Amino acid sequence: TTTARVLDGVAIAGQIKAEVAAEVKQLAAHGTTPGLAVVLVGHVPASEIYVRSKVKTCGELGIYSEMLTPPESVTTEEMLRIVADLNAREDIDGILIQLPLPKHVDTKRLLEAVSPDKDVDGFHPVNVGRLQSGQPGLAPCTPAGIMEILRRSNLPVAGQNAVVVGRSDIVGKPAAMMLLNASATVTVCHSKTRDLPAVTRGADLLVAAIGRPGFITRDMVKPGATLIDVGINRITDAHEVAGFFPNDTARAATFAKRGSVVVGDIHPEAFPISGAYTPVPGGVGALTIAMLMQNTVTAAKLRRGLKAGK
Ligand code: NDP
Repeated sequence: TTTARVLDGVAIAGQIKAEVAAEVKQLAAHGTTPGLAVVLVGHVPASEIYVRSKVKTCGELGIYSEMLTPPESVTTEEMLRIVADLNAREDIDGILIQLPLPKHVDTKRLLEAVSPDKDVDGFHPVNVGRLQSGQPGLAPCTPAGIMEILRRSNLPVAGQNAVVVGRSDIVGKPAAMMLLNASATVTVCHSKTRDLPAVTRGADLLVAAIGRPGFITRDMVKPGATLIDVGINRITDAHEVAGFFPNDTARAATFAKRGSVVVGDIHPEAFPISGAYTPVPGGVGALTIAMLMQNTVTAAKLRRGLKAGK
């Protein structure tokens, strides 16, 4: 018997994309088409898949997109020139540099070279500062997606005890900052946190961004809590898969076919005692591209002095 609500990331992403498409139409009526440039270096299969689906979604929503594909051998200087050209272009509102980059490229220097007003990933220190000080700007897509899930599911944030496990610059820290801005009481945990289960058990709202399959177990969760699972982990061991999904024939079939399944950072055994949870796949991960599209439109509006709708 379970009363836990499943937070459907695919459905929410669909809503957001429909709203973005409507905004793009409005902008078109004023003669503006938002444009996104995606820079993909070399041949990283996972990156190629992500980039293709970003470009495809742009097309579906009426956003202009352009893919730049410098070779693996590209130097930092050459990449800086590509970024400078994109910064200067009037028809490009968003610049996305698909990570990871080859080791010989100075990623940090490159990300800081992107104009903060075109930084649709929200990684530039200026946007980090804007988020921290509550100014309009571009926020990282994954934590922004978490906030959209909470808002559109009418889950309370203000006054809630929110615990974020993970403190990365792309997920944990910005998620904690957004929850704080939304008036949650926020605790951020990491690998040095003492007695983690005691902390997570105090969470009304638990965000797991750790990168370890099923790390958050049932005994670490307060009954009725909202569970947000950011983890995307591929597991390939048959016993491990069986332990995750004892009676799940659909998952077993996927595993038989592909030799792996994707699981989150929260063990599914915890879901039945929660109040609401995001599944993996089909939860937080489903929103990332929708949020990128929203950021591209926000960037287009901010750059033209229009108010960004939120
Ligand atoms: P990082 O590896 O950058 O950060 C992981 C964090 O988890 C670190 O802060 C680390 O602590 C903490 N951690 C690791 N082990 C423990 C532990 N035993 N106890 C407590 N904390 C621990 O990962 P990311 O933030 O980039 O990603 C997290 C997960 O989210 C991954 O599975 C990733 O694939 C997924 N992800 C999903 C996205 C999406 O949905 N679109 C986007 C980005 C990521 P410390 O800092 O002390 O090392």
